[in-house]
Amino acid sequence: MVVLSRAERAGLGEIAAKLDAGVRLSFEDGVRLFECPDTLALGWLANRERERRHGARTYYNFNIRLEATNVCVASCLFCSFARLRPGDAGSYTMSLEQAWDKLRQRAGQPLTEVHVVNGLHPDLPFDYYTELLRGFKRIRPEIHLKCFTAVEIAFFADLYGKTDEQVLRELMDAGLDSLPGGGAEIFAERVRRKICHDKCGTDRYLEIHRTAHRMGMRSNITMLYGHIETAEERIDHMLRTRALQDETGGLQAFIPLAFHPDNNQMRKLPAPSAVDTLRVHAVARLMFDNVPHIKAFWIATGVETAQLALWFGADDLDGTVQEERIYHMAGSRTPEAMSTREIRRLIRTAGREPVERDTLYNVIQGPEADTYSAAL
Ligand code: SF4
Repeated sequence: MVVLSRAERAGLGEIAAKLDAGVRLSFEDGVRLFECPDTLALGWLANRERERRHGARTYYNFNIRLEATNVCVASCLFCSFARLRPGDAGSYTMSLEQAWDKLRQRAGQPLTEVHVVNGLHPDLPFDYYTELLRGFKRIRPEIHLKCFTAVEIAFFADLYGKTDEQVLRELMDAGLDSLPGGGAEIFAERVRRKICHDKCGTDRYLEIHRTAHRMGMRSNITMLYGHIETAEERIDHMLRTRALQDETGGLQAFIPLAFHPDNNQMRKLPAPSAVDTLRVHAVARLMFDNVPHIKAFWIATGVETAQLALWFGADDLDGTVQEERIYHMAGSRTPEAMSTREIRRLIRTAGREPVERDTLYNVIQGPEADTYSAAL
């Protein structure tokens, strides 16, 4: 086969054979994938794995995203969103009513998820967060609440004198359904010390996901790429995530997040190229034999690159989002929201089949729901 011989010429024949035999790729294999100069051969291999699992199906959901406060005591160098103190220029904290209004304003829309991530605010009472969740459930009892990164959970535990498990339990009692994957950045200590030294470390981050899975919740894990990390550190990050998944099976998606350099302390670095973005998604698909979904978060990759990523291992585009701030304050030029019609069209024009899912990947609308031509 022509393409397989191209993969062989690119030095990927042995890895292709391992994948055919169902043999898990090693650390060395992962580094070799990143070193392979033939991006199309790498993409072809990743696409083969993607289609083995999902065929042409590409998932998205109808969600809103909400950042209730950008006040944050941490000082991550890549962050353009946070403000240190309440009252600092550009800082904000929503009242509960303002936050709930974001959901009320969408009454009548078939939303299935509210995704909440915040800065680490030093002065809000814990009740703010439990009431936030309770209020959302009062407004829409069926809505799935995917809220608070493991970094926020660790911060709550330290600030309010609770264990991580107590925090999770009390948030679950208030309506929390699952955890988003933010805050992972890069797990390697060398990088963490430089770019995010004052927030929860890798072991605790993973332990919080482990605990959440044990308590019956699902979660995702992200990886911030394209700054000072090496190929080895990317693979290390993936393998630590893969090991957690071996233990718990609670991860739904791995989400590479592109570093954006505007308005932060790492602005001298260039943003990762589209080719690097495609390669990261492809390598992730190949390394994760146990995580079902690789997500191309279109806000982070850009819309066109997200479409291409659907041929480089990704099978999920996240959702409609609405009002994203974290990436837009760091220079993202994507829209802040997309309608479900736009997302479905974007998937169709990429040559894939759109499937609306809920947070837990139950199918809401399959490809047959489209009533218009992909050529529109
Ligand atoms: S990335 Fe998160 S924890 Fe770090 S400074 Fe920004 S808001 Fe705070």
